[in-house]
Amino acid sequence: MFETDESVNYLLNYSKKLVDNATSGYNYCERLKEMQYLVFAGMVAHYGFDNIKEIYEAFRCKVNFLSRDDLINNRYSEIDDDYKEMMLSGTVPTFTDIYLSDDSNPFLGIINVVNSIYIYYNPNFIYNSMLEALCHEENHIVNSINRQIVFYNGKINVRTGLCSASLFEKSNQFLGLEEGINQLQTNDIMNEIINFTKFKIDDSMLSVALDKVRNCHYDSTAYRTILNEIRPIYISPSYKNIILPNRLNGNIENIYNDFNHRLGEDKFMELSTGIDNLVKDKDPFSYNRYKVKQLVNTYISK
Ligand SMILES: [Zn+2]
Repeated sequence: MFETDESVNYLLNYSKKLVDNATSGYNYCERLKEMQYLVFAGMVAHYGFDNIKEIYEAFRCKVNFLSRDDLINNRYSEIDDDYKEMMLSGTVPTFTDIYLSDDSNPFLGIINVVNSIYIYYNPNFIYNSMLEALCHEENHIVNSINRQIVFYNGKINVRTGLCSASLFEKSNQFLGLEEGINQLQTNDIMNEIINFTKFKIDDSMLSVALDKVRNCHYDSTAYRTILNEIRPIYISPSYKNIILPNRLNGNIENIYNDFNHRLGEDKFMELSTGIDNLVKDKDPFSYNRYKVKQLVNTYISK
């Protein structure tokens, strides 16, 4: 769709206007703004204009760029100590936080959810990694805008894409699958951004920004232990027909039911627990990995 100088420049200018509009209440630094323009444009190229509402709403959520100093001096009380350690050591440089706003009252049925992104901004990080981190986190939110509160198994849950977390217990389900699908999509969005570098860009700020990602073949290392197992699902027709639209519109029960329909009663739980365990499993020949592969093969063959 965006394969000429004119159309790419149009998309970038359009993205710039919408991001400025969505983030007008925040005092973002130039570096963050520039990255947001690119991610927004990459997302429109990936999803098309039909999902502009979800993309726009995601960019209205606040992004917090944290310095080392912010982390060490506990300037953000919502970041718990475990996360702080992981961010400082570079194992988890970013995360999306979903919490209830002050005016929520679950007992009166009023639940307002706030989505925020936290990115540890280390000037030594390479540009692509920062862009990827922002894109990954924004993409979780794009897929959580609609029907964020869901009733699942008789409980009130807050949804992040495919993952649903119970409001009153600290537990979540299907996180590994959500991370895998989200990262594969992030890779595709990053490739859309890299594709813009083939064109003559009029905006000097974006032209300089795109120079930093030029000639980069994008293949992230994030969640590598699960991506190979999830990729067959991502490239199957059922991803396009069932997972992609229902994850966006928030009807995630349709996705769970489709898995169970293809795999057999309650097998979706078995698959997603297997994927959750894979996040830590480095053994290429583990029994768990074998089981996941088997279930994925059954899923895509039906
Ligand atoms: Zn994630």
